[in-house]
Order: sequence, then C-alpha cells, then structure tokens
Amino acid sequence: MRRTPALIVGGGLAGTATAIGLARAGLPHLLVERSRETGDAICGGFLSWRTLETLGGLGIDPDALNPERVTRARIFAGNRRAEAALPHPAVSVTRHRLDTVMLAEAERLGTPVERGVTVREIDGTSARLADGTTIATDALFLASGKHDVRGMARPEDARGADPTLGIRVRIAPSPALSKALAGGIELHLFDRGYAGLAMQEDGTANLCMAVHRSRLQAAGSPAQ
Ligand SMILES: Cc1cc2nc3c(=O)[nH]c(=O)nc-3n(C[C@H](O)[C@H](O)[C@H](O)COP(=O)(O)OP(=O)(O)OC[C@H]3O[C@@H](n4cnc5c(N)ncnc54)[C@H](O)[C@@H]3O)c2cc1C
Repeated sequence: MRRTPALIVGGGLAGTATAIGLARAGLPHLLVERSRETGDAICGGFLSWRTLETLGGLGIDPDALNPERVTRARIFAGNRRAEAALPHPAVSVTRHRLDTVMLAEAERLGTPVERGVTVREIDGTSARLADGTTIATDALFLASGKHDVRGMARPEDARGADPTLGIRVRIAPSPALSKALAGGIELHLFDRGYAGLAMQEDGTANLCMAVHRSRLQAAGSPAQ
C-alpha cells in the first residue's frame, strides 16, 4: 500500500487549484489524473472577471490564456436582441489551454502528478486504483468533476428529474467569424437552455449549449 498525506483525485480545474494551494502552503500531496493527455472538455470557456480574479490569486496570468479580451455581450432571445458592455473585461479560452496552464503551474510549484491513473473506489481515506494498488491518505480531495467514484458517489437523485446537458461545436477560423465576434460573446437564450458563442485563443469559435434534457427530447431526433 502506498501513502501520501493528501491525495487529489482529478487534474481538472478543481484538482489543479487544490494542488496549487497545497504546494504553496508547502504541504506534501499527490495528484492523480486518469487521462494521459490533456483533452478539451466541453465548456463555454468564458472566464468572467471574477473567475480571472480567482485565477490571478492562483498565479495564473490571463494573458497566458488569451491576450484578447471579451468586453461586450450580445444577448438574443426570440426576436429580441440587446447589447451591453461587460462591467469588466473577460477572457474566452479553450479548456485545453486552461487545463494545460493550470496543471503546468501546479507542477512548477512542485505537485507530483501521476497521469493515466484512475481511482476506482474510495473507502474512507484510502483510494483503490484501477491497477489494484491502494493509496492511503490523511486527506482526500475528490475533484473528479461530474464523474462519480464508487464509495463517494453523489445520491441517485442529485441530478434532478430534468438534468442539464452540454453540447459543444467548434467552428473553424474565418475572417467573417473573427469580425462578427471580435471582443464579444453572444448568448442565445431559449426555452430551458442557452448557447454561448465566442472566439477562443486558437482562432476557433466555441459554440456551447447547456440545455435541459426535456427540451432536447421535445425537439426530437432528426433520425426519426
Ligand atoms: C456545457 C458547459 C459549459 C460550461 N461553461 C463554462 C464557462 O463558460 N465558464 C466557466 O467558468 N465554467 C463553465 N462550465 C463549468 C466548468 O466546466 C466546470 O465548473 C469545471 O469543469 C469543473 O471543474 P472540475 O475540476 O470539478 O471537473 P473537470 O474539469 O471535469 O475535471 C475532472 C477531472 O477528473 C478526472 N477524473 C474523473 N474521474 C477520475 C477518476 N476516477 N480517477 C482519476 N481522475 C478522474 C477527469 O479526467 C478530469 O480531468 C461549463 C460546464 C458545462 C457542462
């Protein structure tokens, strides 16, 4: 059996933020992440000024994410449309870049990161890995996002009767797109959901939709 004073399960935003905090405090810890490579999670990628403040506190420079700023919001609802300046500049960034920068900062501060390591089950303060190894710890930080881990799973009804689903489409760069979205984010509001559209640091536009399952079901399938 292995031992670590603090075990962080998951190397997404919560896990890396926790690692940065522990590393700065000089507390020994270990972060395990099941993926071998940093992916590009489904996300709107919109970082508000409040989020940027939090990231700044963790030592993350917004310019390392995207030197461009989002300063305006255009909101569409049915036939109505409104546009306004944001109270403070925001940033639009791919999750690949954000997760990469966060993990790199944790590692720079000394966080040991083990990738390709999946926690299968948690029993009190010990974690059983997919390869059968057990890691015992004094403090366990479960940062596996929406993925439940046996032994610490959310209650059955935690998602509610009509959960929200995320759908994302990445739109290839084009001069017309850059012109239409420069410095702004579009929010399209509709019954039981909304979609956000913004340019990201890699020149693509991220169209991300959060919609209740009942609304998707009501829309039907194009295959039907
Ligand atoms: C559609 C949608 C749009 C969103 N848009 C925005 C937005 O515009 N702005 C914003 O600020 N937030 C947005 N969010 C919210 C944001 O994505 C989440 O708050 C954030 O991803 C949560 O971070 P996390 O670290 O908890 O989980 P995650 O980022 O999901 O990280 C969890 C990590 O744990 C790892 N993991 C899972 N299970 C295990 C295991 N058993 N063992 C080891 N590792 C494991 C995963 O591989 C992953 O790397 C959006 C969310 C959705 C769904």
